[in-house]
Amino acid sequence: MKEIRFENVKKSYGHTEVVKNLNFSIHEGERLILLGPSGCGKSTTLRMIAGLEDVSSGNLYMGGKLVNDVPSGKREVAMVFQNYALYPHMTVKQNIVYALRMKKVPKKEIAARLEDALAMLQLRGLEDRLPKDLSGGQRQRVALARAVVKQADFFLLDEPLSNLDAQLRVSARKELVKIHEKYKQTIVYVTHDQIEAMTVGDRIALLNEGVLQMLDTPENVYHRP
Ligand code: ADP
Ligand code: ADP
Repeated sequence: MKEIRFENVKKSYGHTEVVKNLNFSIHEGERLILLGPSGCGKSTTLRMIAGLEDVSSGNLYMGGKLVNDVPSGKREVAMVFQNYALYPHMTVKQNIVYALRMKKVPKKEIAARLEDALAMLQLRGLEDRLPKDLSGGQRQRVALARAVVKQADFFLLDEPLSNLDAQLRVSARKELVKIHEKYKQTIVYVTHDQIEAMTVGDRIALLNEGVLQMLDTPENVYHRP
């Protein structure tokens, strides 16, 4: 039960409605892309799933449960931010395990998850560095590792690759797919990049001015007869 359902969900800031009457479901285990131009409401939609923004009206269900009033920390989510949001005073290792320590995950389990993540994301040897001493691509992999170790049902990514150069973006997309094949989370992935949407997504939700325009496979979104 890892699906997400929006039922008449709206979000307003003051008098401005930035997300209008969303009615759709994100299936368990799929990679769903939220795609659309800047300002169309992608981030806001993702942040409502993360519990970082309230729903103004309507109902949001995750895993069959109404989560409107469930705080972010109590949702089964892991999030990757565009700017990575690494803790600058913590080493790579500390960044990756911080959330697990807070959740009182047993030490042995933390060590095992850390090892897995370091190996999968090729971060071995960088454990004790501070974020400032990493390249952009390495920072991005730390952000992915920090999210992956939570083993959350819902994996939320907000333009996770937009600060990488083209070559790194290709390898990062492969890493993402690898992560998904291993953990089968439900992925919600925000981007304004059509190529990224087509290569990462099982389905694409096309947003424009807060309205869901289309929700279909990449083939059907881009090659409609
Ligand atoms: P996207 O992620 O598609 O670029 P956002 O979800 O970030 O779009 O923003 C959607 C709209 O909501 C934009 O017009 C933005 O200016 C506005 N907005 C986002 N956050 C706030 C906020 N905290 N207060 C007021 N307006 C906001
Ligand atoms: P966007 O590019 O969509 O605007 P940002 O990466 O700027 O997203 O981050 C959005 C917001 O999330 C920021 O206001 C920031 O304070 C908050 N944020 C960043 N990192 C975390 C975190 N680890 N936990 C909770 N909130 C965070």
